[in-house]
Amino acid sequence: MSKLIVKKFGGTSVANPERIEAVADIVEQTINEGNRVTVVLSAMGNNTDELISLAKEINPEPDLREYDALLSTGEQVSVALFAMALLKRGIQGKSYTAYQLGIKTNSSHSRARILDVDVNKITKELGEGIVPVITGFQGMNEVGDITTLGRGGSDTTGVALAVALNADECQIYTDVDGVFTTDPRVYDKARLLKDVSFEEMLELSSMGAKVLQLRAVEYASKFNMPIRVLSSFNQSEGTLVQEEKNIMERPIVSGISSIDTEAKLTIRGVPDIPGVAAKILGPISDAGIDVDVIVQNIGADNTTDFTFTVDKSNFTKAEAILKETSSSLGGGAGRGR
Ligand code: ASP
Ligand code: MG
Repeated sequence: MSKLIVKKFGGTSVANPERIEAVADIVEQTINEGNRVTVVLSAMGNNTDELISLAKEINPEPDLREYDALLSTGEQVSVALFAMALLKRGIQGKSYTAYQLGIKTNSSHSRARILDVDVNKITKELGEGIVPVITGFQGMNEVGDITTLGRGGSDTTGVALAVALNADECQIYTDVDGVFTTDPRVYDKARLLKDVSFEEMLELSSMGAKVLQLRAVEYASKFNMPIRVLSSFNQSEGTLVQEEKNIMERPIVSGISSIDTEAKLTIRGVPDIPGVAAKILGPISDAGIDVDVIVQNIGADNTTDFTFTVDKSNFTKAEAILKETSSSLGGGAGRGR
């Protein structure tokens, strides 16, 4: 049966002209099987990193409006080249920037959120046999400035377009075979998962699994859009990320991931009463520090241990705040790594 498929390809999948040709072959095959395809691309290879270094040579803390204007150029290169590769194959590829399509975001430069995607234009083109090739990772805010969606943000563009187009599938192509039980580069017995639920994927992504941007998983889960994560380097089936109830076979622990950019803080012997978490974390968030993981141990003697993690760069600040909270609560601050 003919399907409408959004295919998103990451940086390594389109790193050079040979890779662009290889990925154009994948798209051609899907079209020859009778499907309609919309393509979303990341910038070629490390292009985004290179643009960031350039910006930082001018100013270590560049103006974010200009930073987004600069970073968005990476994807503009890949979509134009990709459309050329499709045209060479006799397929009507047509490149679009998010700006041309009016992918609307809020104004949080460098980490903007998608608010609205108008797909009228590409729906019409899909009906005419055109293959839209769209820049991932970017949009425009209400005053028409270019925004970017945060590192890995092309995944979110792919999902948002799939949702707006009411696509049958959102396929996210990468350089690994799918989602593994843990990082296959760290543990050689890591197992490829056939299915994983949105919930489990959210946890894996928030714990450092980089295979999908966290926001993309949130977006897919909110709109119940299944995502298939697969490799553009081989023919493997990949991993289907979908709603829990559709998954037949359930492993108990489905994955483990790790982050080495986090610092852990523990406060011991705090009163085990409702509201204590807010007392501890309130001052931390007031200082603009994001808390990533929270663990509250089972209490004993009406006291408990409370552990949380923050980005390493915030450790000293968080520790100082925690010490103050600790003396007011009568707990003992412990430090971790
Ligand atoms: N090119 C952007 C990045 O490197 C977006 C993406 O790849 O998804 O973060
Ligand atoms: Mg990525």
